[in-house]
Amino acid sequence: AKESGRSGYQFYTEQMHVDAQQLVELEQDLRHALKNDEFTLVYQPQVELDTMQITGVEALLRWYHPHKGLISPDKFIPVAESSGLIVAIGAWVINQACYQLRLWHDLGFEQLSMAINLSARQFFQRDLLATIKKSIADNGIPPAKVEFEITESMMMRNIEETIAILHQIKTLGVQLSVDDFGTGYSSLSYLKRFPLNKIKIDRTFVSGLPDDSDDGAIVEAIIAIAHSLGFTVIAEGVETVEQLRLLAIKRCGEFQGYYFSRPCPVSELSTLLLEHLPK
Ligand code: C2E
Ligand code: CA
Ligand code: CA
Ligand code: CA
Repeated sequence: AKESGRSGYQFYTEQMHVDAQQLVELEQDLRHALKNDEFTLVYQPQVELDTMQITGVEALLRWYHPHKGLISPDKFIPVAESSGLIVAIGAWVINQACYQLRLWHDLGFEQLSMAINLSARQFFQRDLLATIKKSIADNGIPPAKVEFEITESMMMRNIEETIAILHQIKTLGVQLSVDDFGTGYSSLSYLKRFPLNKIKIDRTFVSGLPDDSDDGAIVEAIIAIAHSLGFTVIAEGVETVEQLRLLAIKRCGEFQGYYFSRPCPVSELSTLLLEHLPK
């Protein structure tokens, strides 16, 4: 869209208009998506170093638009966020993920944990605590098997308020993780003030492994800091056995990524669980 020449500027504004129009349309469609049942969750396994078994899954949202087909969360979550629709959608995600965890626990996979993403708007919204509490109670699952992921950049927006909310969520007995860690410029002195359980090393650092020595150093530093503060560490975006080996040598406790499995629908994940988890 950044064509040069005399007509460049004109072209650029037209493009912006189209993009704005598309955003408006997306938002309109998003308003109906919940009641039209257009959302679904897919689940990506998390594998632990000690046993190399699946010990958890992350719930990832998918939107099947009736005309446009599958729309990526990277595209619609920001729209859901800016419009406020994320609060209702996010509540649906929490309840659906808790419901699915109950089903898997009933099938005998009682050790399985469920990681759920929270957006900024959702996190700073009053009803969140009640929503989480209700989903856990309605579905009768152990709160310790539910994990909430918030991004590092979200945490740094309002540090004091974030710490207070995290403490409140903690009282429900659930686990808390920092997503996309390493991208949000948080200072280490702050990190220890957050009541966290786990740090997720951002995919961008993992993708440079094993060849990029800077990424290697960063990953090693993150793991060392996390362990010294008593947090567990999971690496996201693990795609190759070489990455896995290096992370294992550095004692990264858990892994998630295409090397093990793409995010997949319930039935496929159930099959994976049957193969990779002792009942
Ligand atoms: P995220 O929380 O960092 O989730 C990980 C993303 O990395 C997922 O993309 C996943 O499919 C992808 N991924 C997993 N393993 C690999 C790998 O080995 N290589 C590569 N290249 N990618 C991998 P996805 O599902 O498209 O989600 C994108 C983002 O959308 C998520 O990033 C998260 O920020 C957001 N999102 C997804 N579901 C939800 C949700 O229910 N609520 C909220 N608030 N945000 C969500
Ligand atoms: Ca886990
Ligand atoms: Ca996540
Ligand atoms: Ca992430």
